[in-house]
Amino acid sequence: SKSTSELSIKEKTKKKKIAVMTSGGDAPGMNPAVRAVVRAGIYYGCDVFAVYEGYTGLVEGGDLLKKMGWEDVRSYLSEGGTNIGTARCKEFRQREGRLTAAYNMVINGIDALIVCGGDGSLTGADLFRSEWPSLIEELVSSGKLTTKEVEPYKNLTIVGLVGSIDNDMSSTDATIGAFSSLERISEMVDYIDATAKSHSRAFVVEVMGRHCGWLGLMSGLSTGADFIFIPERPPKAGKWQDDLKKVCSRHRNKGKRKTTVIVAEGAIDDELNPITSEDVKKVLVDLGLDTRITTLGHVQRGGTAVAYDRMLATLQGVEAVRAVLETTPDTPSPMIGILENKIVRQPLVEAVKLTKSVADAIESKNFNKAMNLRDSSFEEAYNQYLATSIHDDESQLLPEGERLNIGIVHVGASSSGLNAATRAAALYCISKGHKLYGIQNGFSGLIELGNLKELNWLDVEGWHNKGGSEIGTNRSLPSENFGNVAYYLQKYQLNGLIIVGGFESFTALYELELNKKKYPIFNIPKIVIPATVSNNVPGTEYSLGSDTCLNQLVNYCDAVKQSASSSRRRVFVVEVQGGHSGFVASYAGLVTGSIATYTPETKINLRRLQEDIDLLFTVFENDRGEDKNGKMIIRNEQASTVYSSELIADIIKESANGRFETRTAIPGHVQQGFTPSSMDRVNSIRFAVKSCQFIEKWNEKIGQAGDISQSSNINFIRNLEDSDEGSVVIGIQGAQINFTKINTLYEHEADVILRKGKTIHWDNMAKISDLLSGRLLLKEEK
Ligand code: ATP
Repeated sequence: SKSTSELSIKEKTKKKKIAVMTSGGDAPGMNPAVRAVVRAGIYYGCDVFAVYEGYTGLVEGGDLLKKMGWEDVRSYLSEGGTNIGTARCKEFRQREGRLTAAYNMVINGIDALIVCGGDGSLTGADLFRSEWPSLIEELVSSGKLTTKEVEPYKNLTIVGLVGSIDNDMSSTDATIGAFSSLERISEMVDYIDATAKSHSRAFVVEVMGRHCGWLGLMSGLSTGADFIFIPERPPKAGKWQDDLKKVCSRHRNKGKRKTTVIVAEGAIDDELNPITSEDVKKVLVDLGLDTRITTLGHVQRGGTAVAYDRMLATLQGVEAVRAVLETTPDTPSPMIGILENKIVRQPLVEAVKLTKSVADAIESKNFNKAMNLRDSSFEEAYNQYLATSIHDDESQLLPEGERLNIGIVHVGASSSGLNAATRAAALYCISKGHKLYGIQNGFSGLIELGNLKELNWLDVEGWHNKGGSEIGTNRSLPSENFGNVAYYLQKYQLNGLIIVGGFESFTALYELELNKKKYPIFNIPKIVIPATVSNNVPGTEYSLGSDTCLNQLVNYCDAVKQSASSSRRRVFVVEVQGGHSGFVASYAGLVTGSIATYTPETKINLRRLQEDIDLLFTVFENDRGEDKNGKMIIRNEQASTVYSSELIADIIKESANGRFETRTAIPGHVQQGFTPSSMDRVNSIRFAVKSCQFIEKWNEKIGQAGDISQSSNINFIRNLEDSDEGSVVIGIQGAQINFTKINTLYEHEADVILRKGKTIHWDNMAKISDLLSGRLLLKEEK
């Protein structure tokens, strides 16, 4: 992706007239995308038009093309669906329709089009661009337009935004709307689970995804489904019925009181025969299970977008405008994607072609190819589904000598994802024949009571969607009594330790690593799974629980904003968690459309406050009375020791002189959890399985030493022990899962005093927030 400084874009470009539309099936996040395009367009000095009703708006023109002002997209962030409408437009598929569309664009002076939709919409957009010169020629030759009129419109700029709940587009890791839809599905299955469990029933849940099993696979993981059917991994024709029966009855025999099977709309067997929910139901009934089908249908369109989709749509919308301003007639049309957590521009045509080739691969029964064409994490997720749902038979058991004892401990404040990660680790261990010991009540529990409990299959059943910590968590550290920690790890002959938690877990690991010469048992491989709402663990850009926290904040802020609708003109100072890390505040500020965000990184001072008060005056002045909602200011709990949330609210109120009033709002512990978000659940499984595999690999290395009585082998072990590579933090950096040595992180990456990492990977969010709140514009006008 190209990054161009704000100013250079503004100086270089002549004013463009950009049209933005949403097309195809609606997806949560389309409204935030339109908001971002409209405001970024205006910021960069362009005229922005909304095309209503998808391509129909272009073909019909007239009132369906509307110039948008800054205020027109207020409140778009929190609204589901698409406010500017979408449609399937037959006329646009014909050249005749596209000719009229071209005419309407020229007479409105529009020379760039940003389309937010699925692969069909983007294919149409690209076709439109390639035909454009010939369409213009025809408009002139038929006398509809003069040569002079078309002179400035020789070329059409097209930029694609991928809005689709299916997450089916190649060249991007996530499409706008997919995570919202996944969240809704997971929520619905949670509801169904409750009744299934009550009646000891089986439920077949049908989810969307004609050619793409992403929703099926991810919802299977996040809901702890017994079995899934997705188009990319079709089961053997005639044989799947038996496999399904085996798995479900095995789970029942272990004591599970419910059965959940997820069927993607496009599920097939390997002979391409469709597998319908009815087919699956018959098999389960045959097994003697009281079985019901729930077809989720349009609830999956999702309603209001989750935090992640609001973030994605917002950052991508701004990038789309930049791309419009930077592409030349020779550059291929870009599609805005996200790869490795970075917003990128990809050639649109190739992305669409690749996407189509997945469907082709499935049709020609080349399922491995279909799988490979999906991004790398798809296959990995599929394997994790196998490991946690299917392989609890004896098929994957390791030979006796290779089975391990692994301990898992929760450290620090509660967050969502602790249980989900523990469950996944337990299920993986059971599939391999390892034992997973849950250390009860943190390190102090271990030190005082040596309380370790082997976690069995049924113990962890249902933990995938349970917030809090079942085995108990607290902030105690091993340094409270290293001797006892060593004693109990030794007593249970642990071969590895998983520490799940926030910054304390990081400190705990470092302490163990530092003391391994004195306590040889500390030489076992040890790994931290970052789990904290603050996302302040060095070595990762993401921690379990942070997504749940952001979703909680989004809901909280939407509610608080709306509460002002009767009184009008109210500003809320919302105080969010995050310790000394501004991640949560910056992210929340971006996705709730806050007027100002105060973080420990940016600090608060009088000048900054004055600027924000000025901005509030402008915002309320421009308010034409349609927007009844309150305005937000987000303040991180540690942003300043002087400017408390109350003080900020009082200062603003005093300056407002009766023009508007202020309130503080502190969501507090609501941020730590409740039901984990589907993203946190899926990542819990990723982290847990990978962590167990890390411990396995390390033990394999030790195993390779063979007979320790041989001196060369003793040296081998010593070398392993001298190495600090067995103590790591697992994390996501970009799209990759990484293991980083605790020593490296502690010495170079950690700010131990402020309890956070030194790398600020979220500063772009603050910049875009300022752009979209109008802060930058106001500053420049002055
Ligand atoms: P979804 O992910 O919901 O299926 P989509 O964008 O793929 O979204 P489609 O119905 O395929 O949805 O396309 C939306 C609109 O885009 C169509 O109604 C049509 O107007 C236009 N369109 C799609 N394909 C083409 C094409 N090949 N040529 C011209 N226009 C097209």
